[in-house]
Amino acid sequence: MDKHYDLHSHSLASDGTLSPTALVQRAAAAGVDVLALTDHDDTSGIAEAQQAAAAAAIALVPGVEVSVTWGRQTVHIVGLQIDPTSSLLQQGLARLREFRNWRAEEMGRRLAKHGIHGAYEAAREKAHGRIISRTHFAHFLAEQGHAASVRDVFKSFLKPNKPGHVPGEWATLEEALGWIHGAGGEAVIAHPARYSMTASKRRKLLGEFVELGGEGLEVVSGSHSRGDNFSMAQLAKLFSLKASAGSDFHGPENPWVELGRLQPLPDGCVPIWSDWSAATGSLARAAV
Ligand code: AMP
Ligand code: MN
Ligand code: MN
Ligand code: MN
Repeated sequence: MDKHYDLHSHSLASDGTLSPTALVQRAAAAGVDVLALTDHDDTSGIAEAQQAAAAAAIALVPGVEVSVTWGRQTVHIVGLQIDPTSSLLQQGLARLREFRNWRAEEMGRRLAKHGIHGAYEAAREKAHGRIISRTHFAHFLAEQGHAASVRDVFKSFLKPNKPGHVPGEWATLEEALGWIHGAGGEAVIAHPARYSMTASKRRKLLGEFVELGGEGLEVVSGSHSRGDNFSMAQLAKLFSLKASAGSDFHGPENPWVELGRLQPLPDGCVPIWSDWSAATGSLARAAV
């Protein structure tokens, strides 16, 4: 029987709301056989997730979602099958987390100028010493009644040209791929249909990604429509990219996205896991 893959998820180590253990247990209960933990710019949840996966008899793919600045846009590159002990990768991620900390303080200052005080402190508290993301700010602002929902907070405060927005200074595409490949992993463009860019811009991104040795496109995503999945499958074929599938689950608070609840890969896609070991979910490395 075909295995059930979910190759994009978040834990408390970034902006998810479940511990790595609870996340893995929920995935196992949902029928996922192979789960990737892909926290933003951080791999500190992987060890715990691996232990929980062994106990739940599912495979855990060590992953990360690297924040990238491409032109004026933020793009996310998922690294799968990474070795989290890679010092090149960890040095790179540490730099991104340093920027994150500065950005969080700057967001706090900008929101304060806008009359919203204490946002940095509240977001920091919510992050429990882990990375601070816009999601942590969004939950605070929503709780304080500044907008009707987390989504509305993003729209009114946290997106480009809004009072709490600070432009990203993340990794370059080349750096992100270098870190992922240096850690023995495979690089995948996350939720490619979600970026607001023209079709030609998207092709330019894919072209550069392929040029740099990128392997995959997240054809099926919890944040894609069914139509998006099909158009991204076409793009994957056009650029000879392997297809990945991931829910981008952040926690049970968002009922629209559930672990393992994904459309099948459209016909003609080459799954990124096609050369992984079926037994362990790990990347079968060529013997040298
Ligand atoms: P950051 O990496 O700190 O800039 O935060 C990005 C995260 O914010 C994403 O990974 C999503 O989890 C979340 N996010 C971005 N846009 C939205 C939105 N419109 N509604 C809800 N969450 C969002
Ligand atoms: Mn997130
Ligand atoms: Mn993302
Ligand atoms: Mn994500």
